[in-house]
Amino acid sequence: MAETQTLHDAFLEELKDAYDAEKQLTKALPKLAKASTSPELRQAFEDHLEETNGHVEKLEQVFQGLDEKPKGQRCDGIAGIIDEGKKVMDEDFDDATMDACLIAAGQRAEHYEIAAYGTLVAWAKTMGHHDAADLLQEILDEEKAADEKLNVIAESGVNDEAASGMSEQDEEEHATPTRRSAAAAVRRMPRRRK
Ligand code: ZN
Ligand code: FE
Repeated sequence: MAETQTLHDAFLEELKDAYDAEKQLTKALPKLAKASTSPELRQAFEDHLEETNGHVEKLEQVFQGLDEKPKGQRCDGIAGIIDEGKKVMDEDFDDATMDACLIAAGQRAEHYEIAAYGTLVAWAKTMGHHDAADLLQEILDEEKAADEKLNVIAESGVNDEAASGMSEQDEEEHATPTRRSAAAAVRRMPRRRK
C-alpha cells in the first residue's frame, strides 16, 4: 500500500489545482470581457486577465521554490463555474442584465479563488514555506481586489440599470412584495468586509 499522505502532499495537490484553475481562467476572462457592454466592466476583466497571467507565473515560482515541477491537475470546481458563466452568455439578456450576470459569474470565480488561496497561504505558513506563503498572499490580495472592483462596478450603476431596464410589463408582473424586496436587495448589494 502507498504511504500515508501528509499535509505537504495535500498542499501540492491544492497548488496543482490552483495552477490549472488559473490557466482555465486565462481562457475564460477574454470571453467575459468580450461579452461585457460596460467599458468599465470590460476593462476590469482585461486587467484581471493580466493579473491572472501573473498568477500562473507566481505559482510556477512557488513550485520551483519547493523543488517541484509546475504541474496542473484538472480543477473541476472552476470548470463548473466557468461552464455556468458560458450558459449565461448564451442567454438573450438585455445589455445591462448581461453585465450584471457577468459580474455575478466573475465574482463566483473570485470567491472560489479567494477560498483556495486562503487555504494555501495558511498551509504554507504552517509548514514554514515562507517564500511560498508570500507569493500566495500576493495572489490572494489581487483576487480580493478584483472581487472588490466588481462590487464597485455593480454598485456604480450596472445593477440599477439592469433593474430599471425591466419593461413595464415585467414590473407589473413582478411587483409582488417579495420580488420587490429582492430587486431592492440587489440594488443595495452590501459591501463585503475585507
Ligand atoms: Zn488568480
Ligand atoms: Fe481571479
